[in-house]
Amino acid sequence: MLKKIKLNNQKQIKILISEKKHGSMRLDNNPQNKLNRIKFLEKNSISIEKLISAKLKNSNKCALIKNHQKKIIENTDALITDKPNLYLSITTADCIPVFFYSPQCVAIAHAGWRGITENIIPNTLKAFSEFELKKNLKIIMGPGIGSCHFKIQKDVLKKFKHYPKALHLKKQKIFVDLKKIIKQQLFKTGIPQKNIHNLDECTYCNSQKFFSARRERLKTNKVMLSIIAIEHQK
Ligand SMILES: [Zn+2]
Repeated sequence: MLKKIKLNNQKQIKILISEKKHGSMRLDNNPQNKLNRIKFLEKNSISIEKLISAKLKNSNKCALIKNHQKKIIENTDALITDKPNLYLSITTADCIPVFFYSPQCVAIAHAGWRGITENIIPNTLKAFSEFELKKNLKIIMGPGIGSCHFKIQKDVLKKFKHYPKALHLKKQKIFVDLKKIIKQQLFKTGIPQKNIHNLDECTYCNSQKFFSARRERLKTNKVMLSIIAIEHQK
């Protein structure tokens, strides 16, 4: 459990991130991964029927979710809903899970460097009303690869041309602070600093706690699950 935000006696926002100890949560037909997902959901009193999963594509698409008829949303990297008891989910292992919530609406985005530079964050924000953006919207950036470990090659440098402040050089190598870019994009939309919370943990550094695609050299494919929902108890 990461966070519970009580809105009133019946309504709360629930935010969850699984850790390495819970096993890989990859959205595939691997029976162990399926079992890990089921166990994690059960432990957190979430019905698997209500879990909506984005089938990630490193895109900039945000899908509006109205019901739980469709459990897997193809080719999308962010989900948003204003309906209670729909558990929006993504998986990550270095990419940053970004949670958005207001009393009316919740969203989740899978923010890797491709999605970030293609504006997955501004695209998700577009789905919130002006009022929520300025007053009520809060953001949590979950654990992801830090600027200590996110090294890029020169061939993709041009993708970061709008974000020179997020780059730094170390021993002739280029490192990127992805969370700095996300913050810059949030500020541009008018979200104040005080509404942005950063869980400052690098998935690469914390090998006990998190899976990291880069640390594992893209060999194991193990991922963590992130979930957000508006829970309404009758
Ligand atoms: Zn690190």
